[in-house]
Amino acid sequence: MSFAEVHATFSWDEVLSSIQKRTSADVLKSLARAENGLCDLEDFKNFVSPAAEPYLEKLARLSHERTVQRFGRTIQMFAPVYLSNECQNICTYCGFSAGNKVARRTLTPGEILKEGGALKKLGFNHILILTGESTHVGVPYFISALDCLRPHFSSLSMEVQPLEVEDYQKLRSHGLNSVFVYQETYHRETYNIHHPKGRKSDFLYRLDAPDRIGEAGINKIGLGALFGLEDWRAECFFTALHLQWLERKHWKSRFSISFPRLRPHEGDLQPKVEMSDRQLVQAICAFRLFNGELELTLSTRESKVFRDHAFKLGITSMSAGSRTNPGGYAEGKEASLEQFAIEDIRSPAELAEMLKSNGYETVWKDWDITYDQSTAAHP
Ligand code: SF4
Repeated sequence: MSFAEVHATFSWDEVLSSIQKRTSADVLKSLARAENGLCDLEDFKNFVSPAAEPYLEKLARLSHERTVQRFGRTIQMFAPVYLSNECQNICTYCGFSAGNKVARRTLTPGEILKEGGALKKLGFNHILILTGESTHVGVPYFISALDCLRPHFSSLSMEVQPLEVEDYQKLRSHGLNSVFVYQETYHRETYNIHHPKGRKSDFLYRLDAPDRIGEAGINKIGLGALFGLEDWRAECFFTALHLQWLERKHWKSRFSISFPRLRPHEGDLQPKVEMSDRQLVQAICAFRLFNGELELTLSTRESKVFRDHAFKLGITSMSAGSRTNPGGYAEGKEASLEQFAIEDIRSPAELAEMLKSNGYETVWKDWDITYDQSTAAHP
């Protein structure tokens, strides 16, 4: 059975209505269970419901305690590195969308190495490789990028188009540790509206990508929805459902959830559903209580003020000094168009200093190559 089949057995409207109907008594019952380390999907619904909003302080305290118990006072730091802004898809929320008339660029191996060098100088030992989806940027290009970067970084993650199991296996053998495929929205009709053209318009192929990543034995799988396209509470439920299904099937992999909210970009799309700062904290805490092992990531899409307050409430991984344009680290912000606007513009050193002043240690890598049999043969 695939997750697409599981997803098809749920009605979005029924899920949302059931979340909206939760009461204070439901929330208090789930909070008592969470004190004892228990949280199932029904508890999760309670935690993301409007009824849980008055209990945010309690949720945050429990989430903080659970995170410190498992991860200590540490935050992993990573940098996204955009290798190409060529894209044949139309996604209504993205600056790289094929509809936008902008200069396109794909970095050469020499330029990739320069980006890697600039990131090493900033202290990073873990990077996230990103590209748009284009026929020029496929598996052979990803392999050459991994081969360029592998000798210089302890951990390499990737956020590119969904691939086949054999492709993920090949990339794994070239040193890939983690793959992130965000569903953007689990609401099928809304997905179709925001992905009208290109291979990304295939909702089901994307929905089953994390399963293919797990089958390929990739160490860490990243999930998430782009908050703003649809109701965030239902998006959270379907993400949690997806996570639970994958964890049961691919128990050797680790899992990661990100919390992107719609940001300004070329050809601005306004959020259909606003998610406030408090609601974003509520979602972070709900995921932490649902799963104590999860990596939870907060990116530079969020403001300095928000990140400085929210990172203690369940987050384990943050980006810093991010450039969302190809060549951005070695050549600067103006090298080419950005995918979306960055809110927290602090340097990695400034973020590390903020973490230190709060008693947190910065960890500059995620995974060490020596733990991974499939990549140990590579330099
Ligand atoms: S979100 Fe990804 S696939 Fe969609 S337009 Fe942007 S780069 Fe292309």
